[in-house]
Amino acid sequence: MTGVTGETAAAAAADAALPVRVADGYFPVETLGPGRRLALWFQGCALACPGCMSRHTWDPAGGRAATVGELLRLWEAALARGAEGLTVSGGEPLAQPAALAALLRGAGRLRERAGRAADLLVYTGHEPGEVPEEVWSALAGADAVVTGRFRVAEPTDLVWRGSANQRLVPRTALGALRYGPHLARLHPPGPRVSLRADADGGGARVYGVPARGELRRLERELAAGGIRLTGPSWRP
Ligand code: SF4
Repeated sequence: MTGVTGETAAAAAADAALPVRVADGYFPVETLGPGRRLALWFQGCALACPGCMSRHTWDPAGGRAATVGELLRLWEAALARGAEGLTVSGGEPLAQPAALAALLRGAGRLRERAGRAADLLVYTGHEPGEVPEEVWSALAGADAVVTGRFRVAEPTDLVWRGSANQRLVPRTALGALRYGPHLARLHPPGPRVSLRADADGGGARVYGVPARGELRRLERELAAGGIRLTGPSWRP
């Protein structure tokens, strides 16, 4: 028994030590899955979808260096503050498969320890079968995934998806419980993104999956109040 516990602790420590490059992290975000969530954006994406609102996440050397352990501490703190889920987006999370797998394993362990049914959602621009199985298997710990490229010519009103081709797929019982009611649900009228003020008060960042034209409208409205939209490359 002691040996198993020791092995588990050693595996958790190895996971926590893994390096990962991230673009951003924020809690609470309420526009990327159900409830109040910790959102983590991985850095690096080679898919280059035309119209991507996150071009600043493309460069694999951009963002900042972190460890999986650091991200798990954010998750632990978010759980303590009532987080209902974790959303991992990017960038392309599958571009760092070892770190993604370790993050999901650790997040699952911490959720269990906290006795909470907080779900783990991952956005990937890939489709099943498009990447080697050893890469796709990094999603093993996810309760649900949103798959597929962002296609600017295929707008959608489906919640949490940026274009009509993207699929929301529950992968676990918890995922089915949390996402089953939302698979065909359309976004209600109104904003699809939330705002967070920058520390200097002069700007604001947007979080969520905007409708076509929403960011440009928002930018005009904020500019009228002397606030600029930041985030290095939100504009398509
Ligand atoms: S929309 Fe997503 S998958 Fe496509 S280029 Fe942007 S970050 Fe990559």
